[in-house]
Amino acid sequence: MNPNKQQELLDQFKLRHTTCRLDVVAFFLSKKFAIAHIDLEHAFKHQFDRVTLYRTLKTFLEKGIIHKVLDDEGTPKYALCPSACAHLHHHHHDHVHFKCNVCGHTTCVEDIFIPQITLPQGFKVEEKNLLLSGVCPNCSK
Ligand SMILES: [Zn+2]
Ligand SMILES: [Zn+2]
Ligand SMILES: [Zn+2]
Repeated sequence: MNPNKQQELLDQFKLRHTTCRLDVVAFFLSKKFAIAHIDLEHAFKHQFDRVTLYRTLKTFLEKGIIHKVLDDEGTPKYALCPSACAHLHHHHHDHVHFKCNVCGHTTCVEDIFIPQITLPQGFKVEEKNLLLSGVCPNCSK
């Protein structure tokens, strides 16, 4: 991985470089799957406390660096956003997520979008989530 990738990403969002932000961004960049808060806590337990990690995630979420990924595990996970979120300054994607039953990882399938769903009058959609599950390409080799 390009060591400047983390800095670049923070610069793109006009975020000050803190050790925590840099390390958490690097962690997201190094993983190809969605990450839960607890995963960060385990990974950085000797460096950052829960509150610092929580704040970092919150900032990233608000800025459009990461988005929430809901799978069937009850706790939200997070994954890096497609670059469109950075340019538009708000989250702009409704791709599907895929949970692998073998490795347990949930990944963004960025090229596949949630189909348009028309609800009866009076319903106002604010969030869309579509989770598919099965076997990922890594595990079906
Ligand atoms: Zn986004
Ligand atoms: Zn898998
Ligand atoms: Zn996603």
